[in-house]
Amino acid sequence: MKLLVINHKFHYEMEKLVRIFMPDEKIQVVCEECDDFNLLTSVTDEILVTINFDDFNKILTAPLCEDNEMQMGRMVYSLFGEYTGFYPKWGVLTGVRPSKLLINTEKVVGRKKTEEYFKNDLLVSNEKFNLARTVADCEEKIIATSQPQSMSLYISIPFCPSRCSYCSFVSHSVENDKARNLLPQYVSLLEKEIAETGEIAQKIGVKLESVYIGGGTPTTLSAEQLKTVIDAVKNNFDLSTCREFTVEAGRPDTITEEKLLVLKNSPVDRISINPQTFNDSVLEAVGRRHSAEDTIRIFKLARELGFDNINMDLIAGLPTDTLDGFKHSLDTAISLDPENITVHTLAVKRASGIGQTSPKIAVENATLASQMLDYAYDKLNDKYHPYYMYRQSKSAGSLENVGWAKDGTECIYNIFMMEECHTILSCGGGAVTKLKAPHGDEIERIFNFKYPFEYISGYEELRNRKKRITEFYDTYSL
Ligand code: SF4
Repeated sequence: MKLLVINHKFHYEMEKLVRIFMPDEKIQVVCEECDDFNLLTSVTDEILVTINFDDFNKILTAPLCEDNEMQMGRMVYSLFGEYTGFYPKWGVLTGVRPSKLLINTEKVVGRKKTEEYFKNDLLVSNEKFNLARTVADCEEKIIATSQPQSMSLYISIPFCPSRCSYCSFVSHSVENDKARNLLPQYVSLLEKEIAETGEIAQKIGVKLESVYIGGGTPTTLSAEQLKTVIDAVKNNFDLSTCREFTVEAGRPDTITEEKLLVLKNSPVDRISINPQTFNDSVLEAVGRRHSAEDTIRIFKLARELGFDNINMDLIAGLPTDTLDGFKHSLDTAISLDPENITVHTLAVKRASGIGQTSPKIAVENATLASQMLDYAYDKLNDKYHPYYMYRQSKSAGSLENVGWAKDGTECIYNIFMMEECHTILSCGGGAVTKLKAPHGDEIERIFNFKYPFEYISGYEELRNRKKRITEFYDTYSL
């Protein structure tokens, strides 16, 4: 498909919106006048949106107004809705943080006008608006606890026991000898980076609120390596102000009693044990090397060892899953009674296994994923409330990922990170440090090298990049 952009500057926004309707379509953006077109969005003295396919030719026009971008968005929504029969529940909203937009809009125009804006201008459904509002109300209370000097720490372990077919993260499977052999050197450099980042944190005078060790699958590390990483945090950061310390244990096939004891005998107070699904055939179809029974066994073991804040991730729309299969997964997760349940929607990126083999599955599973979320939200509402949310590109039905929590167990790191409340200092391959000005909205990112081998070979360069942290705080001082 060609997206012709003539005489206006909204090509990026229009392309993003068209991608919601046709996520696997190759879109070529042409920013110049041209007569040969399949799809045309144009502004001259009026807005013109034309969609022209072999079997579908429609044109909508409207006079230029103050908000041409929004007007064009609604016209694209209407035409592509008619063409595809799909009307996204998030309307023309393409951003990844609906609740952040809601909070920021409310600050300017108040609650009532924000609702009108979401529903009438952005065409967000009642159901999704109410979800965003509930999330925003919960987030605001936690956001209010972040102070100008606050920061959080993220540590990345980009290694996994094997590769899940839906995953597009940069994470190395340790099935591969080359990747496995990098682990000792990786951990040793990570220990060094954590120590150096701790020195920087002390120098700029920030206060640690939360720690999140994620990946990948951090419990791919041995018990000893895990201890090394956690000790590095303990020894180099002042944990007296830290309110939450999460380790995303993740895959049950990596979790052992020995590793759980390392976590239990440390400042870690929240873990994730992620089933994704409780159907063995679906687990096999997506390349996860564990059974539903393994997840249940590890969850019970973690409880016996005293973990009282556990998250479980599920995914709606997985290949070969069914509505009944998802209901069984959700019901099983609820019956285990974890403090948090995060319900993701399948997103199919090109870098993933299924992005290569079944790129259309997110489109095909859009209705199914929507039914799964409806079921989940209905059931979860009894015991849990939605507390954070984000959207990913190329997700089935353009639907969202939502964290649900029992009262008082919301993961504060997730909110601080998603809503960009304060600086996140990050260590490890693929990690991104996000600097937030203590008294303003300025944000700057420092990227670590993505792949473990680059992280190891480029460590000195990384140290140089991190010098920017002190410069940033000198400019936007506390
Ligand atoms: S465990 Fe998570 S990070 Fe690792 S391959 Fe699977 S989805 Fe990706």
